[in-house]
Amino acid sequence: MKKRILIIEDDKDIVEAIRYNLEKERGFSVRSAQTGDEGLSLALEERPHLIILDIGLPGLSGYEVCRMLRRDAETRDIPIVMLTARGSESDKVLGLELGADDYLTKPFGIRELIARVRAAMRRKEGEPGAMEVFDDGKLYLHFGDYVVRFNGREPKLTFKEFSLLKLLVQNAGRVLSRDKILDAVWGYNYFSESRTVDVHIRRIRKKLGPKAENYIETVIGVGYRFRLQNPGLQTSPSPSNSKSQATSVP
Ligand code: CA
Repeated sequence: MKKRILIIEDDKDIVEAIRYNLEKERGFSVRSAQTGDEGLSLALEERPHLIILDIGLPGLSGYEVCRMLRRDAETRDIPIVMLTARGSESDKVLGLELGADDYLTKPFGIRELIARVRAAMRRKEGEPGAMEVFDDGKLYLHFGDYVVRFNGREPKLTFKEFSLLKLLVQNAGRVLSRDKILDAVWGYNYFSESRTVDVHIRRIRKKLGPKAENYIETVIGVGYRFRLQNPGLQTSPSPSNSKSQATSVP
């Protein structure tokens, strides 16, 4: 699976040099944007694995673009490597404070850039909670590629539904409140109500189909919990048939 890289830079020669070298490395596919606005919409559309962002752009500056990428729940986890012609320490500090992962001063060597790109992606993948794949033999999720399979089917989840399911899976066993889910999936400045979460959970369960409730448990008055299933128990009777559970079923 190729890693998608988005370059936001108005200097076409630089874009082409980076594109040529990254694509030559294999394993990378490259898209580019010449302005911040175009870059922001491509970032949402493509969900790249990493963004190479120039500070000197026409219109929105790279700093502003960086700030907006970090503010949006859908793009805030994408690693950013910043480029600039300016090499002063304060520029570098500002870029890093705004959430850039690394920083390169022009002129830079292309090998250096590729090494930084790889390092930034490795760091992201090594972060706790940044599990790439969940697979228990029945439910399969690939977080980077937005793939879901359940009981041999491949339900089509929207981006929000996928993000919500991913959050639950990555916090398996823990009860997440509706507020916490809203904050993590929709962003802290998203104006919404907890009912939004319920609606999305309902849609996820419906799309996954029968037995999805075994995985996504409603914790009344609080929120939701993802329960790990023992794949060895897949063929065992449903819980209502077992003695220990029967007493709690009216
Ligand atoms: Ca530029």
